Amino acid sequence: MKFRQFALCCDCGLAPTRIRQVGLSTDHQLVIHWWCMGCRKAMYVMKDFAECWEDCPTPDDFSVTSVPAENLECHRGDVNFLHRLGIRYPGDGES
Ligand SMILES: [Zn+2]
Repeated sequence: MKFRQFALCCDCGLAPTRIRQVGLSTDHQLVIHWWCMGCRKAMYVMKDFAECWEDCPTPDDFSVTSVPAENLECHRGDVNFLHRLGIRYPGDGES
């Protein structure tokens, strides 16, 4: 699998050092939430899934990043997905 990163940044121009939450909204959008260290405020980026579909790169797009096959094999499910993004729930082990 290959993917292209979102170019995330705050209004002040600072890129997030750590994504706090990734979720789905009630109006069918992907929501990415982080805390801007520069202006000390919560940032939320919303993106429609229809828009995501249109923005998806092609396999030979030069800007895509490859995900190693073993990562796809042993990480399944929402919790593991969120762990890969650095998001943990209280009580989660540090595995
Ligand atoms: Zn900022």
